[in-house]
Amino acid sequence: MKKGFMLLAMILTVVTAAAAFAAPPANTLAAIKKKGVLVAGVKDSLPPFGYVDEKTRTIVGYDIDFVRAIAKRLGVRVELKAVTSASRMPQLEEGNIDIIAATMTNTPERAKQIAFSDTYFRTGQAFITRKGMVHSLKDLAGKRIGTAKGSTSEQNVKAALPTATILSFDDYPQALLALEQGKVQAVTTDEAILAGILAKAPNRNQFEIPPFKISDEPYGLGMRKNDKQLVAFVNKTLLAMEKSGEAARIFDKWFGPRTPFGLHRTFKIVAGK
Ligand code: GLU
Repeated sequence: MKKGFMLLAMILTVVTAAAAFAAPPANTLAAIKKKGVLVAGVKDSLPPFGYVDEKTRTIVGYDIDFVRAIAKRLGVRVELKAVTSASRMPQLEEGNIDIIAATMTNTPERAKQIAFSDTYFRTGQAFITRKGMVHSLKDLAGKRIGTAKGSTSEQNVKAALPTATILSFDDYPQALLALEQGKVQAVTTDEAILAGILAKAPNRNQFEIPPFKISDEPYGLGMRKNDKQLVAFVNKTLLAMEKSGEAARIFDKWFGPRTPFGLHRTFKIVAGK
């Protein structure tokens, strides 16, 4: 009896260890179709890209709508897994997710490690500060600035403001809390993310996004480097969504004139870009 139990425990350990180290499939597109589900790594606290809807308790947003459109064309369901800026690439490379749809900028450095789809959103890096405090970048010299670990925002701000002290949090809402508590004088990341956080902040009237940017941030959907078939399928889908107007409708739904952001779309999804 005892021996049998030990054997069972050993088998379970081996099975769990094998699952933890499961290598990603050689052809993710075929694997997604076979399992009937597209597993996407998304943000869950960044409105309007990916956040928990209070009514439905599900994750919704701009990034999620793109994932759903891709899954629909694949004829599979969607499973969303929350990732942080720092965890999204390891999660992908370990095979825990099939695709990253998480406010992720396509950079030459990242593109050495993973594959990116064509650009499906464009923004640039800005700051949130207390109202009237900051008019240009030099007002932030020597200040304490919050951002997220593993983001381009962290790298860009270190280069743009070498005299500032950069505090890196797990996510941007935590950085905003530090701003509200006076622990940092600014929070920096992509303007569209800052606008989304600010729109939901209870004391938003005390803060502002000064009108200057320090970078260009083209967002791509992230996939494993060798997943050529999936990348081709995703890009074909993005182009079809651009042509049909679906991509523009998703933009308008989350950022358009009838939203708190009131933005007009200034980019198009273009093949190879
Ligand atoms: N788009 C930037 C990045 O990919 C900042 C936003 C984020 O941390 O997700 O790093």
